Amino acid sequence: MDLISDLRGAIGAERVLTAAADCAPYLTDWRRRYTGTARAVVLPASTAEVATVVTRCARERVAVVPQGGNTGLVGGATPDDSGTAIVLSTRRMSRIRALDCANQTITVEAGCVLQQIQDAARDRDLLFPLSLAAEGSCTIGGNLSTNAGGTQVLRYGNTRDLTLGLEVVLADGQVWDGLRGLRKDNTGYDLKQLFIGAEGTLGVICAATLRLFPAPRATITALAAAASLEQMVALLARVGRAGGPALTAFEVMSASSLRLLAAEHPELRQPFAAVPPWTVLVELSDHDGEAHAIDLLERTLGAALEVGAIDDVAVARSGADSRAMWQLRESIPEAQTRAGGNVKHDVSLTVSAIPAFVASTDARLRAEFDWIEPITFGHLGDGNLHYNIGVARRDALPRLQAEQVRINRIVHDAVHAAGGSISAEHGLGQLKRDDIVRYKSSLEMETMRAIKRALDPFGIMNPGKVL
Ligand SMILES: Cc1cc2nc3c(=O)[nH]c(=O)nc-3n(C[C@H](O)[C@H](O)[C@H](O)COP(=O)(O)OP(=O)(O)OC[C@H]3O[C@@H](n4cnc5c(N)ncnc54)[C@H](O)[C@@H]3O)c2cc1C
Repeated sequence: MDLISDLRGAIGAERVLTAAADCAPYLTDWRRRYTGTARAVVLPASTAEVATVVTRCARERVAVVPQGGNTGLVGGATPDDSGTAIVLSTRRMSRIRALDCANQTITVEAGCVLQQIQDAARDRDLLFPLSLAAEGSCTIGGNLSTNAGGTQVLRYGNTRDLTLGLEVVLADGQVWDGLRGLRKDNTGYDLKQLFIGAEGTLGVICAATLRLFPAPRATITALAAAASLEQMVALLARVGRAGGPALTAFEVMSASSLRLLAAEHPELRQPFAAVPPWTVLVELSDHDGEAHAIDLLERTLGAALEVGAIDDVAVARSGADSRAMWQLRESIPEAQTRAGGNVKHDVSLTVSAIPAFVASTDARLRAEFDWIEPITFGHLGDGNLHYNIGVARRDALPRLQAEQVRINRIVHDAVHAAGGSISAEHGLGQLKRDDIVRYKSSLEMETMRAIKRALDPFGIMNPGKVL
Protein backbone atom coordinates (compact mmCIF):
# COMPACT_ATOMS: atom_id res chain seq x y z
CA MET A 1 0.00 0.00 0.00
CA ASP A 2 1.34 3.49 -0.72
CA LEU A 3 2.10 5.86 2.15
CA ILE A 4 -0.87 8.17 1.58
CA SER A 5 -3.43 5.35 1.51
CA ASP A 6 -1.76 3.85 4.55
CA LEU A 7 -1.98 7.16 6.47
CA ARG A 8 -5.60 7.65 5.40
CA GLY A 9 -6.44 4.22 6.72
CA ALA A 10 -4.63 4.93 9.98
CA ILE A 11 -5.90 8.42 10.92
CA GLY A 12 -8.87 9.04 8.60
CA ALA A 13 -8.99 10.15 4.97
CA GLU A 14 -10.27 13.64 5.81
CA ARG A 15 -7.15 14.30 7.89
CA VAL A 16 -4.67 13.57 5.12
CA LEU A 17 -4.81 16.52 2.73
CA THR A 18 -3.35 16.26 -0.77
CA ALA A 19 -5.40 18.68 -2.90
CA ALA A 20 -3.34 21.76 -3.76
CA ALA A 21 -5.95 24.22 -2.44
CA ASP A 22 -6.24 22.35 0.89
CA CYS A 23 -2.48 22.14 1.37
CA ALA A 24 -1.64 25.72 0.29
CA PRO A 25 -2.10 27.43 3.71
CA TYR A 26 0.48 25.06 5.21
CA LEU A 27 3.11 25.55 2.52
CA THR A 28 4.02 29.24 2.82
CA ASP A 29 5.55 30.84 5.89
CA TRP A 30 4.16 33.83 7.81
CA ARG A 31 6.49 36.37 6.18
CA ARG A 32 5.89 34.86 2.71
CA ARG A 33 9.59 34.37 2.16
CA TYR A 34 9.39 30.61 1.68
CA THR A 35 6.96 28.40 -0.22
CA GLY A 36 7.43 24.64 -0.45
CA THR A 37 5.50 21.64 -1.69
CA ALA A 38 4.52 18.46 0.16
CA ARG A 39 3.28 14.98 -0.57
CA ALA A 40 0.52 15.59 1.99
CA VAL A 41 -0.47 17.62 5.02
CA VAL A 42 -1.59 15.38 7.88
CA LEU A 43 -3.61 16.45 10.91
CA PRO A 44 -3.34 13.85 13.68
CA ALA A 45 -5.59 14.35 16.72
CA SER A 46 -3.59 12.53 19.40
CA THR A 47 -0.08 11.47 20.42
CA ALA A 48 -0.89 7.92 19.31
CA GLU A 49 -1.81 9.21 15.85
CA VAL A 50 1.41 11.28 15.65
CA ALA A 51 3.34 8.12 16.54
CA THR A 52 1.49 6.23 13.79
CA VAL A 53 2.32 8.88 11.19
CA VAL A 54 6.00 9.18 12.18
CA THR A 55 6.46 5.38 12.35
CA ARG A 56 5.18 5.00 8.81
CA CYS A 57 7.27 7.93 7.52
CA ALA A 58 10.39 6.57 9.26
CA ARG A 59 9.86 3.17 7.65
CA GLU A 60 9.84 4.78 4.20
CA ARG A 61 12.45 7.45 5.03
CA VAL A 62 9.96 10.21 4.29
CA ALA A 63 10.67 13.64 5.78
CA VAL A 64 8.29 15.01 8.46
CA VAL A 65 7.91 18.78 8.87
CA PRO A 66 6.11 19.61 12.15
CA GLN A 67 3.95 22.71 12.07
CA GLY A 68 1.94 24.54 14.72
CA GLY A 69 0.44 27.98 14.10
CA ASN A 70 2.87 28.68 11.23
CA THR A 71 3.82 32.07 12.70
CA GLY A 72 7.55 31.34 12.89
CA LEU A 73 9.81 33.98 11.35
CA VAL A 74 12.67 31.86 9.97
CA GLY A 75 10.92 29.42 7.60
CA GLY A 76 11.24 26.51 10.05
CA ALA A 77 7.78 25.06 9.44
CA THR A 78 7.86 25.24 5.62
CA PRO A 79 8.87 22.13 3.63
CA ASP A 80 11.38 22.33 0.79
CA ASP A 81 10.21 22.26 -2.83
CA SER A 82 10.95 18.58 -3.53
CA GLY A 83 7.33 17.63 -2.88
CA THR A 84 8.42 14.55 -0.91
CA ALA A 85 7.82 15.65 2.71
CA ILE A 86 4.79 15.24 4.93
CA VAL A 87 3.74 18.37 6.82
CA LEU A 88 2.46 17.30 10.24
CA SER A 89 0.13 19.96 11.62
CA THR A 90 -0.72 19.79 15.33
CA ARG A 91 -3.81 22.01 14.99
CA ARG A 92 -6.19 19.26 16.04
CA MET A 93 -4.23 18.50 19.22
CA SER A 94 -5.58 21.34 21.32
CA ARG A 95 -6.80 19.81 24.57
CA ILE A 96 -5.87 21.14 27.98
CA ARG A 97 -5.27 17.86 29.75
CA ALA A 98 -4.94 19.06 33.35
CA LEU A 99 -4.55 22.16 35.49
CA ASP A 100 -3.09 21.49 38.94
CA CYS A 101 -3.65 24.61 41.08
CA ALA A 102 -1.73 23.27 44.08
CA ASN A 103 1.31 22.38 41.97
CA GLN A 104 0.82 25.49 39.82
CA THR A 105 1.16 23.57 36.56
CA ILE A 106 -0.86 23.09 33.41
CA THR A 107 -0.57 20.14 31.04
CA VAL A 108 -1.48 20.94 27.46
CA GLU A 109 -1.33 19.41 24.01
CA ALA A 110 1.09 20.85 21.47
CA GLY A 111 -1.59 22.40 19.25
CA CYS A 112 -3.05 24.60 22.01
CA VAL A 113 -2.94 28.22 20.92
CA LEU A 114 -0.88 30.26 23.40
CA GLN A 115 -3.82 32.53 24.27
CA GLN A 116 -5.93 29.49 25.15
CA ILE A 117 -3.36 28.52 27.80
CA GLN A 118 -3.12 32.08 29.16
CA ASP A 119 -6.95 32.19 29.43
CA ALA A 120 -7.18 28.81 31.16
CA ALA A 121 -4.64 29.94 33.76
CA ARG A 122 -6.36 33.31 34.23
CA ASP A 123 -9.70 31.56 34.88
CA ARG A 124 -8.07 30.02 37.98
CA ASP A 125 -6.44 33.29 39.06
CA LEU A 126 -3.05 32.05 37.85
CA LEU A 127 -0.64 33.36 35.24
CA PHE A 128 1.03 31.66 32.30
CA PRO A 129 3.49 34.44 31.55
CA LEU A 130 4.62 33.65 28.00
CA SER A 131 3.32 36.54 25.92
CA LEU A 132 4.04 37.64 22.35
CA ALA A 133 2.26 39.49 19.58
CA ALA A 134 1.40 36.25 17.74
CA GLU A 135 -0.26 34.72 20.84
CA GLY A 136 -3.68 34.48 19.16
CA SER A 137 -2.26 32.18 16.44
CA CYS A 138 0.97 30.51 17.60
CA THR A 139 0.84 27.15 19.38
CA ILE A 140 2.67 26.00 22.48
CA GLY A 141 4.36 23.28 20.40
CA GLY A 142 5.84 26.02 18.20
CA ASN A 143 6.73 28.14 21.24
CA LEU A 144 8.57 25.20 22.77
CA SER A 145 10.29 24.27 19.54
CA THR A 146 11.59 27.81 19.03
CA ASN A 147 12.12 28.42 22.77
CA ALA A 148 10.06 31.58 22.27
CA GLY A 149 10.87 34.66 24.35
CA GLY A 150 8.37 37.51 24.17
CA THR A 151 7.73 40.36 26.55
CA GLN A 152 8.03 38.78 30.02
CA VAL A 153 11.44 37.10 29.81
CA LEU A 154 13.01 39.61 32.18
CA ARG A 155 10.92 38.25 35.04
CA TYR A 156 9.88 34.71 34.03
CA GLY A 157 12.46 33.54 31.47
CA ASN A 158 12.05 31.96 28.03
CA THR A 159 9.69 29.08 27.21
CA ARG A 160 12.47 26.72 28.33
CA ASP A 161 12.31 28.18 31.84
CA LEU A 162 8.55 27.63 31.96
CA THR A 163 8.71 23.94 31.04
CA LEU A 164 8.74 21.05 33.51
CA GLY A 165 7.88 18.09 31.30
CA LEU A 166 7.37 17.00 27.70
CA GLU A 167 5.77 14.19 25.75
CA VAL A 168 7.58 13.64 22.46
CA VAL A 169 7.26 11.31 19.49
CA LEU A 170 10.82 10.43 18.51
CA ALA A 171 12.06 10.13 14.93
CA ASP A 172 11.42 6.37 14.86
CA GLY A 173 7.84 6.77 16.11
CA GLN A 174 8.43 5.79 19.77
CA VAL A 175 6.65 7.90 22.38
CA TRP A 176 8.83 9.36 25.15
CA ASP A 177 6.69 10.15 28.17
CA GLY A 178 8.58 12.82 30.07
CA LEU A 179 5.44 14.63 31.14
CA ARG A 180 6.47 15.31 34.73
CA GLY A 181 5.44 18.26 36.86
CA LEU A 182 8.55 18.21 39.04
CA ARG A 183 10.57 21.29 39.94
CA LYS A 184 13.46 19.14 41.08
CA ASP A 185 14.65 16.08 39.17
CA ASN A 186 18.37 15.37 38.97
CA THR A 187 18.25 11.88 37.54
CA GLY A 188 20.72 12.19 34.70
CA TYR A 189 20.57 14.14 31.44
CA ASP A 190 17.61 16.48 31.19
CA LEU A 191 16.25 15.14 27.90
CA LYS A 192 13.44 17.65 27.50
CA GLN A 193 16.02 20.40 26.98
CA LEU A 194 17.10 18.72 23.73
CA PHE A 195 13.67 19.12 22.17
CA ILE A 196 13.09 22.69 23.39
CA GLY A 197 14.48 25.04 20.74
CA ALA A 198 15.19 22.14 18.34
CA GLU A 199 12.75 23.56 15.75
CA GLY A 200 11.25 20.14 15.05
CA THR A 201 14.56 18.56 13.98
CA LEU A 202 14.70 15.90 16.72
CA GLY A 203 11.08 14.80 17.26
CA VAL A 204 7.48 15.98 17.48
CA ILE A 205 6.48 17.58 20.78
CA CYS A 206 2.97 16.35 21.55
CA ALA A 207 2.29 17.73 25.05
CA ALA A 208 3.93 19.74 27.81
CA THR A 209 3.61 20.40 31.52
CA LEU A 210 4.21 24.09 32.13
CA ARG A 211 4.76 26.29 35.17
CA LEU A 212 2.10 28.73 36.34
CA PHE A 213 2.47 31.67 38.70
CA PRO A 214 0.20 33.68 40.99
CA ALA A 215 -1.55 36.29 38.84
CA PRO A 216 -0.50 39.86 39.67
CA ARG A 217 -3.35 42.15 40.76
CA ALA A 218 -2.33 44.96 38.44
CA THR A 219 -0.04 45.57 35.50
CA ILE A 220 0.94 49.18 34.92
CA THR A 221 3.36 50.73 32.45
CA ALA A 222 5.21 54.00 32.01
CA LEU A 223 7.18 55.54 29.18
CA ALA A 224 10.48 57.27 29.86
CA ALA A 225 12.55 59.36 27.46
CA ALA A 226 16.31 59.87 27.39
CA ALA A 227 19.04 61.06 25.06
CA SER A 228 21.18 57.92 25.12
CA LEU A 229 21.04 54.15 25.40
CA GLU A 230 23.63 54.35 28.20
CA GLN A 231 21.01 56.25 30.23
CA MET A 232 18.44 53.56 29.47
CA VAL A 233 20.79 50.81 30.65
CA ALA A 234 21.36 52.74 33.88
CA LEU A 235 17.59 53.23 34.23
CA LEU A 236 17.06 49.46 33.93
CA ALA A 237 19.27 48.91 36.97
CA ARG A 238 17.53 51.72 38.88
CA VAL A 239 14.01 50.39 38.17
CA GLY A 240 15.18 46.84 38.87
CA ARG A 241 16.41 47.89 42.32
CA ALA A 242 13.14 49.67 43.10
CA GLY A 243 10.73 47.13 41.61
CA GLY A 244 12.56 43.83 42.20
CA PRO A 245 10.50 40.95 40.79
CA ALA A 246 7.65 43.35 39.95
CA LEU A 247 9.63 44.60 36.94
CA THR A 248 8.25 42.45 34.11
CA ALA A 249 9.19 44.35 30.96
CA PHE A 250 11.70 46.95 29.82
CA GLU A 251 11.23 47.61 26.12
CA VAL A 252 13.18 50.15 24.11
CA MET A 253 12.13 52.15 21.04
CA SER A 254 14.42 54.38 18.97
CA ALA A 255 13.34 57.79 17.68
CA SER A 256 13.15 56.29 14.17
CA SER A 257 10.67 53.67 15.48
CA LEU A 258 8.38 56.37 16.91
CA ARG A 259 8.64 58.52 13.77
CA LEU A 260 7.72 55.48 11.68
CA LEU A 261 4.68 54.90 13.92
CA ALA A 262 3.63 58.54 13.49
CA ALA A 263 3.77 58.11 9.71
CA GLU A 264 2.18 54.67 9.39
CA HIS A 265 -0.11 54.60 12.44
CA PRO A 266 -1.21 58.24 12.95
CA GLU A 267 -4.14 56.98 15.05
CA LEU A 268 -1.71 56.02 17.87
CA ARG A 269 -1.07 58.75 20.43
CA GLN A 270 2.60 59.76 20.63
CA PRO A 271 3.70 59.98 24.26
CA PHE A 272 5.87 63.10 24.16
CA ALA A 273 5.53 66.50 22.45
CA ALA A 274 8.84 65.99 20.62
CA VAL A 275 10.17 62.53 19.70
CA PRO A 276 13.09 61.77 22.06
CA PRO A 277 16.20 59.88 20.85
CA TRP A 278 15.21 56.86 22.98
CA THR A 279 12.01 55.82 24.74
CA VAL A 280 11.52 52.85 27.07
CA LEU A 281 8.33 51.16 28.14
CA VAL A 282 8.63 50.02 31.75
CA GLU A 283 6.08 47.50 33.07
CA LEU A 284 5.44 46.61 36.70
CA SER A 285 3.26 43.63 37.61
CA ASP A 286 2.15 44.29 41.13
CA HIS A 287 0.69 41.94 43.73
CA ASP A 288 -0.61 44.84 45.87
CA GLY A 289 -2.70 46.54 43.21
CA GLU A 290 -2.93 49.36 40.68
CA ALA A 291 -2.46 52.29 43.09
CA HIS A 292 0.70 50.70 44.51
CA ALA A 293 2.16 50.12 41.04
CA ILE A 294 1.41 53.67 39.89
CA ASP A 295 2.93 55.09 43.07
CA LEU A 296 6.10 52.99 42.71
CA LEU A 297 6.56 53.99 39.07
CA GLU A 298 5.93 57.67 39.83
CA ARG A 299 8.39 57.69 42.71
CA THR A 300 11.13 55.76 40.89
CA LEU A 301 10.89 57.54 37.55
CA GLY A 302 10.21 60.90 39.24
CA ALA A 303 13.48 60.56 41.17
CA ALA A 304 15.31 59.68 37.94
CA LEU A 305 13.83 62.74 36.26
CA GLU A 306 14.82 64.99 39.15
CA VAL A 307 18.49 64.06 38.93
CA GLY A 308 18.53 64.32 35.13
CA ALA A 309 18.92 60.57 34.58
CA ILE A 310 16.00 60.78 32.10
CA ASP A 311 14.38 63.69 30.25
CA ASP A 312 10.65 62.99 30.40
CA VAL A 313 8.17 60.48 31.74
CA ALA A 314 4.52 59.48 31.31
CA VAL A 315 2.99 57.03 33.81
CA ALA A 316 -0.20 55.18 32.82
CA ARG A 317 -3.20 55.99 35.03
CA SER A 318 -4.98 52.69 34.37
CA GLY A 319 -4.82 49.31 32.68
CA ALA A 320 -6.33 50.90 29.56
CA ASP A 321 -3.57 53.52 29.45
CA SER A 322 -1.02 50.74 29.81
CA ARG A 323 -2.49 48.80 26.90
CA ALA A 324 -2.31 51.94 24.74
CA MET A 325 1.41 52.22 25.57
CA TRP A 326 1.95 48.58 24.66
CA GLN A 327 0.13 49.17 21.40
CA LEU A 328 2.84 51.64 20.41
CA ARG A 329 5.56 49.08 21.01
CA GLU A 330 3.68 46.21 19.37
CA SER A 331 2.71 48.19 16.26
CA ILE A 332 6.30 48.78 15.15
CA PRO A 333 6.63 45.54 13.11
CA GLU A 334 3.34 46.25 11.31
CA ALA A 335 4.46 49.86 10.65
CA GLN A 336 7.65 48.49 9.10
CA THR A 337 5.64 46.19 6.83
CA ARG A 338 3.46 49.15 5.78
CA ALA A 339 6.60 51.16 5.04
CA GLY A 340 7.60 48.57 2.44
CA GLY A 341 9.78 46.13 4.35
CA ASN A 342 13.13 45.99 6.11
CA VAL A 343 16.07 43.75 6.82
CA LYS A 344 15.38 42.14 10.20
CA HIS A 345 17.93 41.17 12.84
CA ASP A 346 16.89 39.44 16.06
CA VAL A 347 20.09 39.73 18.07
CA SER A 348 21.11 39.44 21.70
CA LEU A 349 24.05 40.86 23.61
CA THR A 350 24.86 41.45 27.22
CA VAL A 351 22.82 44.47 28.29
CA SER A 352 26.01 46.37 29.07
CA ALA A 353 27.34 45.84 25.52
CA ILE A 354 24.23 47.23 23.80
CA PRO A 355 24.96 50.99 23.70
CA ALA A 356 28.39 50.54 22.09
CA PHE A 357 27.04 47.92 19.66
CA VAL A 358 24.23 50.18 18.45
CA ALA A 359 26.46 53.27 18.12
CA SER A 360 29.22 51.50 16.20
CA THR A 361 26.96 49.39 13.98
CA ASP A 362 24.74 52.37 13.09
CA ALA A 363 27.88 54.32 12.14
CA ARG A 364 29.36 51.44 10.14
CA LEU A 365 26.14 50.87 8.17
CA ARG A 366 25.53 54.57 7.53
CA ALA A 367 29.09 54.99 6.26
CA GLU A 368 28.51 52.26 3.69
CA PHE A 369 24.83 52.85 2.84
CA ASP A 370 23.84 56.48 3.38
CA TRP A 371 20.20 55.75 2.42
CA ILE A 372 19.41 53.35 5.32
CA GLU A 373 17.50 54.03 8.53
CA PRO A 374 18.01 51.65 11.48
CA ILE A 375 14.71 50.97 13.26
CA THR A 376 15.91 49.69 16.62
CA PHE A 377 13.51 48.39 19.25
CA GLY A 378 12.99 45.38 21.47
CA HIS A 379 13.50 43.71 24.79
CA LEU A 380 16.35 45.82 26.23
CA GLY A 381 15.86 44.23 29.65
CA ASP A 382 16.78 40.85 28.11
CA GLY A 383 19.61 42.22 25.96
CA ASN A 384 17.52 41.39 22.88
CA LEU A 385 17.20 43.95 20.10
CA HIS A 386 15.20 43.86 16.91
CA TYR A 387 17.87 45.75 15.01
CA ASN A 388 15.95 46.18 11.78
CA ILE A 389 17.25 48.17 8.85
CA GLY A 390 14.74 50.21 6.86
CA VAL A 391 15.18 53.06 4.41
CA ALA A 392 15.21 56.82 4.90
CA ARG A 393 13.20 57.25 1.66
CA ARG A 394 10.88 54.77 0.00
CA ASP A 395 12.66 54.97 -3.35
CA ALA A 396 15.67 53.28 -1.73
CA LEU A 397 13.71 50.05 -1.12
CA PRO A 398 15.15 48.24 -4.17
CA ARG A 399 18.67 49.07 -2.95
CA LEU A 400 17.82 47.65 0.47
CA GLN A 401 16.67 44.45 -1.20
CA ALA A 402 19.86 44.26 -3.27
CA GLU A 403 22.20 44.89 -0.31
CA GLN A 404 20.46 42.55 2.14
CA VAL A 405 23.25 39.99 2.29
CA ARG A 406 25.97 42.59 2.91
CA ILE A 407 23.88 44.31 5.59
CA ASN A 408 23.28 40.98 7.36
CA ARG A 409 26.96 40.21 7.27
CA ILE A 410 27.97 43.57 8.79
CA VAL A 411 25.36 43.32 11.57
CA HIS A 412 25.99 39.67 12.42
CA ASP A 413 29.78 40.09 12.38
CA ALA A 414 29.39 43.03 14.79
CA VAL A 415 27.12 40.98 17.06
CA HIS A 416 29.58 38.11 17.06
CA ALA A 417 32.54 40.40 17.77
CA ALA A 418 30.65 41.76 20.78
CA GLY A 419 30.03 38.21 22.09
CA GLY A 420 26.35 38.15 21.13
CA SER A 421 23.95 35.80 19.33
CA ILE A 422 22.54 36.24 15.79
CA SER A 423 19.23 34.66 16.82
CA ALA A 424 17.90 35.67 20.20
CA GLU A 425 14.40 34.27 20.00
CA HIS A 426 13.27 33.32 16.49
CA GLY A 427 15.57 30.34 15.88
CA LEU A 428 17.59 29.42 12.79
CA GLY A 429 15.07 27.61 10.57
CA GLN A 430 16.22 27.84 6.97
CA LEU A 431 16.83 31.59 7.13
CA LYS A 432 19.96 31.48 9.30
CA ARG A 433 21.00 27.85 8.82
CA ASP A 434 24.01 28.69 6.68
CA ASP A 435 24.99 31.86 8.56
CA ILE A 436 25.33 30.11 11.90
CA VAL A 437 28.26 28.03 10.68
CA ARG A 438 30.29 31.24 10.49
CA TYR A 439 29.67 32.07 14.15
CA LYS A 440 29.49 28.82 16.11
CA SER A 441 32.69 26.91 16.71
CA SER A 442 33.24 23.70 14.77
CA LEU A 443 33.12 21.90 18.12
CA GLU A 444 29.62 23.24 18.81
CA MET A 445 28.42 22.45 15.28
CA GLU A 446 29.83 18.91 15.42
CA THR A 447 28.24 18.29 18.83
CA MET A 448 24.88 19.42 17.45
CA ARG A 449 25.30 17.11 14.44
CA ALA A 450 26.16 14.21 16.76
CA ILE A 451 22.95 14.79 18.75
CA LYS A 452 20.98 14.93 15.51
CA ARG A 453 22.54 11.66 14.28
CA ALA A 454 21.81 9.94 17.61
CA LEU A 455 18.15 10.93 17.74
CA ASP A 456 17.33 11.01 14.03
CA PRO A 457 19.75 8.66 12.26
CA PHE A 458 17.87 8.76 8.95
CA GLY A 459 17.50 12.55 8.98
CA ILE A 460 13.74 12.55 8.48
CA MET A 461 12.84 15.20 11.09
CA ASN A 462 12.49 18.62 9.47
CA PRO A 463 15.51 18.27 7.16
CA GLY A 464 17.25 21.43 5.97
CA LYS A 465 16.44 23.35 9.15
CA VAL A 466 18.95 24.42 11.84
CA LEU A 467 21.75 22.14 10.51
C1 LIG B 1 3.58 39.01 14.93
C2 LIG B 1 4.60 38.07 15.47
C3 LIG B 1 5.25 38.35 16.67
C4 LIG B 1 6.20 37.47 17.19
N1 LIG B 1 6.80 37.81 18.36
C5 LIG B 1 7.69 36.96 18.90
C6 LIG B 1 8.31 37.27 20.14
O1 LIG B 1 8.09 38.32 20.74
N2 LIG B 1 9.17 36.36 20.65
C7 LIG B 1 9.46 35.19 20.01
O2 LIG B 1 10.23 34.40 20.53
N3 LIG B 1 8.91 34.90 18.83
C8 LIG B 1 8.04 35.74 18.25
N4 LIG B 1 7.47 35.42 17.05
C9 LIG B 1 7.92 34.21 16.34
C10 LIG B 1 7.67 32.92 17.09
O3 LIG B 1 8.63 31.97 16.77
C11 LIG B 1 6.34 32.28 16.84
O4 LIG B 1 5.33 33.18 16.99
C12 LIG B 1 6.00 31.06 17.73
O5 LIG B 1 6.86 30.74 18.78
C13 LIG B 1 5.98 29.88 16.81
O6 LIG B 1 4.84 29.11 17.11
P1 LIG B 1 4.01 28.42 15.95
O7 LIG B 1 3.03 27.52 16.59
O8 LIG B 1 3.45 29.40 14.99
O9 LIG B 1 5.16 27.56 15.25
P2 LIG B 1 5.43 27.27 13.71
O10 LIG B 1 5.71 28.53 12.97
O11 LIG B 1 4.35 26.42 13.17
O12 LIG B 1 6.78 26.42 13.83
C14 LIG B 1 7.95 26.99 14.30
C15 LIG B 1 9.03 25.90 14.39
O13 LIG B 1 8.67 24.94 15.38
C16 LIG B 1 8.51 23.63 14.81
N5 LIG B 1 7.35 23.03 15.47
C17 LIG B 1 6.10 23.55 15.57
N6 LIG B 1 5.33 22.73 16.33
C18 LIG B 1 6.11 21.69 16.70
C19 LIG B 1 5.90 20.51 17.50
N7 LIG B 1 4.73 20.26 18.06
N8 LIG B 1 6.94 19.66 17.66
C20 LIG B 1 8.15 19.90 17.10
N9 LIG B 1 8.39 20.98 16.33
C21 LIG B 1 7.39 21.87 16.14
C22 LIG B 1 8.36 23.86 13.32
O14 LIG B 1 8.82 22.76 12.57
C23 LIG B 1 9.21 25.11 13.11
O15 LIG B 1 10.56 24.74 13.00
C24 LIG B 1 6.52 36.28 16.49
C25 LIG B 1 5.86 35.99 15.29
C26 LIG B 1 4.93 36.87 14.77
C27 LIG B 1 4.25 36.53 13.49
